[in-house]
Amino acid sequence: MFPVDLHTHTTASDGTHTPTQLVARAAKNGVRVLGIADHDTVAGVSEAIEAGRQAGIEVVPGVEFSLKHEPDKGFIGIHLLGYFIDITMPRLQEVIQQVQQARVEQKIRQIEKLQTLGFNITVDEVFSRVQGVPGRPHIAAVLMEKYPGRFASLQQVFDEFLGTGRPAHVKRDFALTMRQAVVLIREAGGVPVLAHPGIYEPVANPVSVVRNACREGIMGLEVFYPYPASARTNWVGRMEALARDLGLAVTGGSDFHGRPGENLEPGEAGLTGELFDRFRQVARQG
Ligand SMILES: [Zn+2]
Ligand SMILES: [Zn+2]
Repeated sequence: MFPVDLHTHTTASDGTHTPTQLVARAAKNGVRVLGIADHDTVAGVSEAIEAGRQAGIEVVPGVEFSLKHEPDKGFIGIHLLGYFIDITMPRLQEVIQQVQQARVEQKIRQIEKLQTLGFNITVDEVFSRVQGVPGRPHIAAVLMEKYPGRFASLQQVFDEFLGTGRPAHVKRDFALTMRQAVVLIREAGGVPVLAHPGIYEPVANPVSVVRNACREGIMGLEVFYPYPASARTNWVGRMEALARDLGLAVTGGSDFHGRPGENLEPGEAGLTGELFDRFRQVARQG
């Protein structure tokens, strides 16, 4: 276990733990610094900070933006993390509102596509489980529940229907470009960090993605990440070297969602205290 885990999700997006539950679970694992990085929202941050205060854990306010596709730069399905952001900044709040509205409309259209594909699921059934931002996992969960045995896993639902290029995939109408997200995070006093570079491999070369993102102004790279054991490339090692070459700060985290079968704990991937101190230095210097 690591004392610092900068990448976790709560019920404010598609995690299964409320911020308070997540902080408690992290504390039990010996985590001392916990980053909350929900998809396109900061709604879980305040509760986590309060729970952290009581549990003696420092909570780093964060967000994980899903960016607009920019295929010429290899930016397809890219996630950008922002840490140490001022979550009350009006412009940040405004953009998050816009993104959330677009997400809601996108999920409704995805559900409609599934209906035309013969699945009997409704918008209400999906949205009744959403406590914060709706995500594809919410749709997948309803499908798995209503069609027991049809899908072995959430991944199978994505592979067959909801993933990019699959029949029930719908592009979102509004998303930030890499540049826009970098500027917004910096305006909010935060540090923009490219999330889990190794997972972009099937659609783009992670090394070019990092280099291009560097040109757009990212300041950090999520080097430490629980890549599947089957990954053929040692992404942690490669990205650590690349971050050093490019002068990027290093972060890491588990990407804990708490899903059944996830088999992961907060603190299982992350940073040593020493690496986190270095990252905090970068944040302070802006
Ligand atoms: Zn991500
Ligand atoms: Zn994540």
